Amino acid sequence: MSSEPLVLVEGLRKVYRTGPREVVALRDVSFSVFPGELVAVRGRSGSGKTTLLNQIGGLDRPDAGRVVVSGHEVTAMPDEALLELRRDVVGFVFQSFGLIPVLSAAENVGVPMRLVRMPVDEREERIRLLLALVGLEQHANQRPYELSGGQRQRVAIARSLANRPRLLVADEPTGQLDSQSGRQIMELLRALVRSEGVTALVATHDPSLLTLADRVLEISDGAVREAALT
Ligand code: ADP
Ligand code: MG
Repeated sequence: MSSEPLVLVEGLRKVYRTGPREVVALRDVSFSVFPGELVAVRGRSGSGKTTLLNQIGGLDRPDAGRVVVSGHEVTAMPDEALLELRRDVVGFVFQSFGLIPVLSAAENVGVPMRLVRMPVDEREERIRLLLALVGLEQHANQRPYELSGGQRQRVAIARSLANRPRLLVADEPTGQLDSQSGRQIMELLRALVRSEGVTALVATHDPSLLTLADRVLEISDGAVREAALT
C-alpha cells in the first residue's frame, strides 16, 4: 500500500545564534510521516525535539529545507497562513498543557472552535463529544486548577482536536506527569490516532512509552534517524 506522506520533511536545518555562539539544532533532517501513523521522536534533552516539532507545526522557521503538511508548504507560508494552519490543520499538545486558567475544561476545549466561528449548537455538541472521548465528561465545568495533571493534559488533547486537525503534534506531553498518568496519556493518544483518523508526531524521552508508537525516530544532536522497532 502506498500513500502520500502527510508530513514531508526535507533537508531541514536550524541554527540558533545567540551572540557569538552558534547552535546547530537541526542538521539536514529528512523523513516522512504517513496518514494514520503515530510516530515518536525520541531524544535526550537538548537533542532538538522541540525545534523539530516547531518547524513542522509552523511555530518557527528553519534556515534551510522544506516542510509540507497535508499538502501545505509550511516553510513557504506567510505568517497569517501559518496561523490558519495551526488553527485548522495542526493541533498542538505541550508538556505544560497551556490551558487558560480562568476557563472551565469545556470552555478551554471550545476556544479553537470560537476562532473558526463554529455555530454555538455545533460547538456545544463537539465539546461534549471531545470531553467524552478523553474521559472527562464529568469534569466539564472544572477549571484547570481543579484537575489533576493527567486530566489537564486530557483537556489539552481534546482542545487540540477541536477543529479536526490532520496532524497532532505533541511535545513531551507526559513530561510533567507521573509514570502512570503518562502511560495513560500515551494510550489515549494511541487510541485517538486509531479512532479519529488523526496522525500524530510525539516527542518524548520516556523509553517506556515508545512501544505504543508505530515508528520511532531517534534524534541526536540535531540529526534524525529511524530507530529499530522494539
Ligand atoms: P529538546 O526539545 O530535545 O530538549 P531543543 O529543540 O529545545 O531540544 O533544543 C535543541 C538545541 O537548541 C539545544 O542545544 C538548545 O539549547 C538550543 N536552543 C533551543 N532553543 C533555542 C533558542 N531559542 N535560542 C538558542 N538556542 C536554542
Ligand atoms: Mg523540548
